[in-house]
Amino acid sequence: MAQPGQVPPIAAPSLERPSLEKLGLSPERPLVIVDVDEVLGLFMAGFGAFVAECGYELRFERFALFQNLYRPGAREPVDIAVGRELFNDFFAIGCGELEPAPGAVEALRRLKPHAEILILSNAPASAERLRGDWLKKHGLPHALILSSGPKGPITAALTAQSRGKSAFVDDLLPNLDSVAEHSPRTATFQHVADPRLRPLAPRSDKHPRIDDWRDLGEAIAAAIS
Ligand SMILES: [Mg+2]
Repeated sequence: MAQPGQVPPIAAPSLERPSLEKLGLSPERPLVIVDVDEVLGLFMAGFGAFVAECGYELRFERFALFQNLYRPGAREPVDIAVGRELFNDFFAIGCGELEPAPGAVEALRRLKPHAEILILSNAPASAERLRGDWLKKHGLPHALILSSGPKGPITAALTAQSRGKSAFVDDLLPNLDSVAEHSPRTATFQHVADPRLRPLAPRSDKHPRIDDWRDLGEAIAAAIS
């Protein structure tokens, strides 16, 4: 496993069979897998600032990203193609500017002595350097995998290599449900970082919803002990 101070590798986005060992993670310790956007970082705030510089407006009306994107003053959201282009541009050049979610960095710091931490982010490959640099800049020098699609299969491939307990945190129910299906022994937690999104975000009885990182950190610690 990685020595203290050693920078863990970033896995290629196309990595199909991720290896804990290659990521510098011990299979002997509990594994905590954490999302970035709206979990460790305030994505909507950062994306909103980015699109504003491009002449667009991000509103908080639905839990659906592209349907919240407008030209200023418009009644209808922009075409999805425009949204996709802004989204891809954000990850290629703007995603290094996110603010960390309040309490997230401290909570992971408290968990680190007790668990291996892996950041699993659904983001385009173009985000790899900015996202890795962002994590290190904010005191989160953990192994990072950029992925796409429901997170259950990749989580199951990782937890199958670990002899410890595991936990998974995401803001999106499809990812949480996917992990519950493919890696049923992994404790799942929903966290929605932006207070403006919280009333809009669907929740489920299957995954405890904990929007305060101090409480979430304690719940994760209890789940993996
Ligand atoms: Mg997310």
